[in-house]
This record gives sequence, C-alpha cells and structure tokens, in this order.
Amino acid sequence: KPIDEILDEAPILHEIQLQLFEWIAYYYMCTPGEVFKAALPAGLKPESSLRVEMMDDLDWEGLELSDKEFELLEALSIQPVMNFNEVAKLWEILNPSPRLKSMQARGLVKLYQKVETKYKPKYEKFLRLSEAYTSEEKLREAFDSLAKNATAQENLLMRIVSEYYKGKTVPKSETLKELNIGSQVAKALIKKGFIEEEEVQIDRLELYGYKLHTKEIIYNEEQLRVLDEMRQHIASGQSKPILLHGITGSGKTHLYIELIKDALAQGRQVLYLLPEITLTKQIIDRVKSELGEQVGIYHSRFNDNERVEIYQKVRSRKYQVVIGVRSAIFLPFENLGLIVVDEEHDHSFKQHEPAPRYNARDLAIYYGQLVNCPVVLGSATPSFESYQNALKGKYLLVELHKRAVAANPPEIEIVDMRIQRKKRSMHSIFSSYLYQRIDEVLKRGEQVILFQNRRGYSPYLICETCGHVPECVNCDISLTYHKEKKHLRCHYCGHTDFNLNACTQCGNYTLRRAGIGTEKIEEAVREVFPEARVERMDLDTTRTKMAFQNIINRFENQQIDILVGTQMVSKGLDFENVTLVGVINADNLLTFPDFRAYENAYQLLTQVSGRAGRSTKKGQVLIQSLMPDNVVLRSIEHPYSEFFHKEIPSRQQLGYPPYARLIRIEFRHRDKSYIEQEALRLLNLLKPYFGANLLGPDYTLVARVRNLYRMQFLIKLSKNTSTQKIRSVLDKLIKHYFEVAPQKTLRIIVDVDPV
Ligand SMILES: [Zn+2]
Ligand SMILES: [Zn+2]
Ligand SMILES: [Zn+2]
Repeated sequence: KPIDEILDEAPILHEIQLQLFEWIAYYYMCTPGEVFKAALPAGLKPESSLRVEMMDDLDWEGLELSDKEFELLEALSIQPVMNFNEVAKLWEILNPSPRLKSMQARGLVKLYQKVETKYKPKYEKFLRLSEAYTSEEKLREAFDSLAKNATAQENLLMRIVSEYYKGKTVPKSETLKELNIGSQVAKALIKKGFIEEEEVQIDRLELYGYKLHTKEIIYNEEQLRVLDEMRQHIASGQSKPILLHGITGSGKTHLYIELIKDALAQGRQVLYLLPEITLTKQIIDRVKSELGEQVGIYHSRFNDNERVEIYQKVRSRKYQVVIGVRSAIFLPFENLGLIVVDEEHDHSFKQHEPAPRYNARDLAIYYGQLVNCPVVLGSATPSFESYQNALKGKYLLVELHKRAVAANPPEIEIVDMRIQRKKRSMHSIFSSYLYQRIDEVLKRGEQVILFQNRRGYSPYLICETCGHVPECVNCDISLTYHKEKKHLRCHYCGHTDFNLNACTQCGNYTLRRAGIGTEKIEEAVREVFPEARVERMDLDTTRTKMAFQNIINRFENQQIDILVGTQMVSKGLDFENVTLVGVINADNLLTFPDFRAYENAYQLLTQVSGRAGRSTKKGQVLIQSLMPDNVVLRSIEHPYSEFFHKEIPSRQQLGYPPYARLIRIEFRHRDKSYIEQEALRLLNLLKPYFGANLLGPDYTLVARVRNLYRMQFLIKLSKNTSTQKIRSVLDKLIKHYFEVAPQKTLRIIVDVDPV
C-alpha cells in the first residue's frame, strides 16, 4: 500500500513497547490487534471515514436528478466536503452508501476514505482588548461612544480593560455568564472594533487541581532501614524485583515517594500503579504535594480525549511520573527508572474482559526486566505468589512491622454471633458488643466504618412457603433487593424486576428478605443510632464521577459519623479520626467456593481493619461471624507470615498456585444442550494432551450470564513445564476444534493465570 500521508510526526509507540506488546500477545494467548486496542487510547487510533465531494467541473444544471441527488449536490456546492454522517443526516437515512455509489458511478460525486484520529483538542474562546484601543485616549473615546443605556456593553468592556491591565484575557462564556449578559453584547463590541475574540487550546488535565499537604514527614528507624536497603539494592543494579511487605499504616507510600525522587534525579520516568479504588484524591494530593506538576494521573474514568492528552504528555516527557490504574502500563514511557505496584495482591490489576487478559503486576515484572528498571511491589498482605517468590529469593523481601505514626495496630475482636443470637442480645443487626463500641466511639466524637461486602438491601428474597428464590431471567443468580429503588436487580446483567411480594412459584405473598446488604445496614444505623450522621459508599451511591470523592471529603471533614460501605471503604483511605471498624458479617467471605477464598478474605479483612486507629488514637476492629474458629479469623490478629505458612501446605497438596500455573479455558453458548455436547468434544480433544492436569468441564460459578451458559476447563501446569509448548499445543487444539465442530458458534476464551 502506498502511504498517502504521514499521520503523526513522531511514532506513537517506542520500539521497546512493541516488544512488550508482542510478549503480551504470546503470553496471554491473544492477537497483537487485541493488545494494540487495549494499549492505545481510543482517541489516538486512526479511523477511516467516508468523504464525499462533487466531481470537479461538474455542470449539473441540466442533468436528470432525483430529489435526493439534487439535495446532496446543492449541499456540496455550499460545503465542498461532506462525511458519511452528514450525508446520512441530510438524506434522513441510516446508510447512504448504495445511493452514493450509484452517484459515483454516474460521475456526479467522488468518494474516498479519509483517515483521521478522533482526538479533538479542547478550545475555549477568549476576549481581549483590541491593539488599537490600548491607549488611554482611545479607550476614553470608546467608552464615550457607547450609548447611554448600553450598560451591559460598558460592564463587559470595563472587565476586559481591567483584565488587560493585569496582563490577562477574559474567558468568554464564563464571563458573560458571570456578568449575566448575552453573547450579542460581546458581538457588538467586536463589531465596533474595541475588542477581539480568539480561540485558545485548553489543557483539559490542568482542570484537576490538588491540595497541598504540608505536614512534615518524620521517618522511624524501621522505615529508614528499609529505605536504605531498597536504595542499595537498586543502586547495585540487580534485576531482582523488591517486595515491600509492610503492615497497614506502616508508611509505604512515603517510601515509594523517596524512591521516585531518586529515579527522577537520574532523569528517568516513573510508573506508579494502584488499584482502581485506591486511586483517590488523598493519594494524588500526597504525591503531587511532593512532586508537583510533573505528576500525571491515569484513571479509567477519564474520557478518550483526556487519555490522549496524558498519553502525549508522557510521550513528550512533560509528565515524568504517572500514577495510574492497570492500563497505565501501556503509556509511552522512555527510560523508565522505577515501577511501583502498590497493593500488588489486588485483583483489579488483572483484566478479565476483553482480551488481553493481562495482569499489570506481572507485566510490570516482565517490563522491568525488559527495560532494565527496578520494580517494587508493595502490600500489607502480599499475594501468595509474590510472597513465595520472595521467600525463595526470587524477589528481595523487605518488611515494615510497625505503624508509622500510631502506637499500635488496631485491636481485633471476633464476635461469636451464635452466642449473641441465642442470648437475644442483638440490636437490629448489631451484636451487643458492636452496639456498645459504636455508642462509645460516637460519644467521643470519633468516626466509625461499617463494612459489608454486599450492596443492595438484601442479597436475595426467599419464599417462606415453598423456598423459592427469585432469580434473574437472563442469569443463574438470585436477584438483589434494593429498597430505595423498590426493585430487584441482577448484579450481573442489570435486569430489574418489580415483583416484590408474590412468589411466582406458589402464588403466596410470603417473600422474605434474606441476608444483609449495605442498604440495610444504613437503615439499621438510622434506627439504632438516630443521632448519628450516616452515609453509604458502594457502587450504587458512587455512579457519578464526583460522588465517590464527595463522600470521602465529607467523611474527612467529619460531616459523617458512620460510613457504611463495601470494599470501597477497605483500601487506601486514611482518616485520622476513625477509631472503630465493624465487619457486619464475615461469613460470606469465608465460604466463597474458590481455592483463593481464604487468602482473599484475609487480605480484605486486614485491609478494612487497617482503616482503624491510623493516627495516635487507639483503633478497634469488631468482626461478627458465625464461624469464629475459622482459620482466617483466628489468624487475622497475627502476622501475615503465620497465616501464609498455615495455608500454603494445602495449596501444595492440591497443586494450585503458587505451586502451579493455571490456564482457564472458558466457553460460552446460548444453548444448554449444545454447550454440554461440545464440552465433551473439547474434553476428548484436550484429555490426551493434558491428562490428569486437565480439570473439568464444569459450569462456572454463575452458570449462565446474559443468557449465555458458561463452562470451563482448568489446566494445571507444574512450574517447570515449558509453557511455550503448552501454548502452541493449546492453540492448535482450539483451531482444530473449530474445524470439526458442527457450528462455529461456541465462544472460547483462554485466560492465562486467572484470578
Ligand atoms: Zn445493586
Ligand atoms: Zn413460594
Ligand atoms: Zn442477570
């Protein structure tokens, strides 16, 4: 193909990124196209669109034309180039292509593809004093010439003049709004030649300000020792990643910032990865306070245009540091000097849908080796994979056992709900213990966080007559009752149902609300502690861009006494006045059917406990459970390593990570009998190669989502298997499957290192 035009002056990607992308496609078994799609902001991807122009020198006066043809030629004589959408709009049809092609065939118009990127710079109009009227004399003349009753014109001109003396221009729409005058006023002044209008490209990202933290940081001895150890390791040029294991509140963030400063001093760029929900204004303020304007933020809530601007600023090195979520790893860094992955155990680093199903933490390790850049993983509760690597010496392990400011870690108590319920000492959903603690804390003017990992009012309804549980029509999952919205809702597909009373199975009006969601806790707080100011933070209350931040701000300003929330409240938040964390019911975390359930429960409960007593006030944590003897709850107060060593033998016995690698092969289909039939066909295909290492086929935890049945195989690979061979075998088998399959309609998804 000949090159028509050069789209970008500089290539969008660095050579080394292409190597990274190639590896992603190979390792995660997807196409390079899928990697590019994930890696480049949509606004940067060139798209081609159809353009229409009138044929040169066309004399169409005497031609036989249909109404539509006439309309278009007439429009083109005013606007010489039109695009597909404009023609569709003009003709009021969806697809103007066939008619356009026939016009092209008749020699009336020419059609061509124009490649363009969607990114649009943002412009704003400004008003300024005309050069000719800058002298005092001319200005007086201008004011004198205004009509006596033209006060609006006078006001606007006054404003523009006074800003002119400050060396500033005036943002048009904002100022007109402020002075409460219409745009015709500005127009009149422009017409008289007193003022001029200009369009200026605006930096979207500078609209996000930050608050300066001025508190001086004093490191304790342990922090200084760990910092020194990390610095020496990095200076030695060893490629081993560092695992910084530090309990909650031990001040890991400040140590990252020190290392970031080191890298910047060498003129290198830095990537600081965080899970979605910990990328809060609190952390941004902290980092920006120390490092200033060279810090860019990469958040999934930014729109396409904002992403393009971040991309360009990393490329041009205006941003030297980026704090971002998992996809920030694709930004065009040059000479990376440090990658930090904070909360490295967090599952949000893994992309589930669509491909590439990468884990940004694991990419960071690979990328670090590729570009010879130090990588620091940090967590209070490392993933078993990373901790195992550290114990085996593959990573350098450094640990912080003390809190940075607080005297002690919070005191954790497990409340045995079996006894509480027998004694009938419940206050609504609160045990007498939790009730008393909340009461005391509120009386001291301190704050409470109540955690429950279910949103909605109750996770399901159940018929007391026949035991029926209303389920989603599209998915095999119970519907969650939302009291405020007065509906039942599926959390997988969004389906809503308004049948709240009558059982569809037996017809009786005996549907009972079962289980506890955050909405119910909020209601219970209002009943039991009517004086307390309570708010709820979960997916349902934080749908808008600012809602999440607004709740955090109000909590920080102590305008909220009790914050109820899902795991959104568990991470990263640092509130000095929170001295009590209550876990309303830990049991559903402990009974989740997954080999990582205990690891995840331990991590989540530790994180949420870590919100209590972060300053000098003593923190308390109360966990309500019907299973107080569960190993997770018994370990929660002890060091992480104890829990790790208790749990790891069962992983070894069962051959799960970190002792093996997993590849998950999921397949989906609308038709239950077809998917089950094809499951057997796949089994016969895979079994000869993988033997006992192949598990399945099984339905996934939720067997049907959005009307698609889902089944899966798991392949366990021992650590020393050549994954290269496995990949090519698997690839061939799947290709072969589609050659022999009766239909091509099964969707097969390969997920490497699933979490
Ligand atoms: Zn919901
Ligand atoms: Zn019933
Ligand atoms: Zn559903």
